[in-house]
Amino acid sequence: MAIYNRLGTLDGMVAFGVMDTSRCVLCEANDENHNHLFFECSYSFRIWSTMTAKCNVNWPKLNWNHLVNWLATQLTGSSLAVTICKLVFTYSIYCIWLERNCRIFQATKSTEVAIISRIKELVRYRVMSITNFKADLTNNCFLKEWSLPASVIKSGLAGLNV
Ligand SMILES: [Zn+2]
Repeated sequence: MAIYNRLGTLDGMVAFGVMDTSRCVLCEANDENHNHLFFECSYSFRIWSTMTAKCNVNWPKLNWNHLVNWLATQLTGSSLAVTICKLVFTYSIYCIWLERNCRIFQATKSTEVAIISRIKELVRYRVMSITNFKADLTNNCFLKEWSLPASVIKSGLAGLNV
């Protein structure tokens, strides 16, 4: 997770003279830095709101390092719920970063809605490739919310519905 701190945000590139502006390309309203880009930006915020609602979690409003630590201590184990939450966090960061780079280097733009469906698909495909999740009381809710087949669960009633 520490690698995210090394992402070259625009404020760093401006300091090195690579770019002449550090305006956030997602909202076009504020200066870019890690906290802004991933958490404070109105564009990213709309993505997080939708994604965390689908995980049934409310991540605390913390700065980057504290949030990563919070997630590492809260999201333990390998249940379907925890796996989905971790994947949502990782893929949301990844897709926001990718979108930011597309806007800067390729001059293409995607809407928040497009990014949200991209994250959903990445999470779904990854979960379906893992399978073998333990039977758990929260599984049905997550299977339904994420349109996942019951076959990802190792055993129990959910597995018998296939
Ligand atoms: Zn922004």
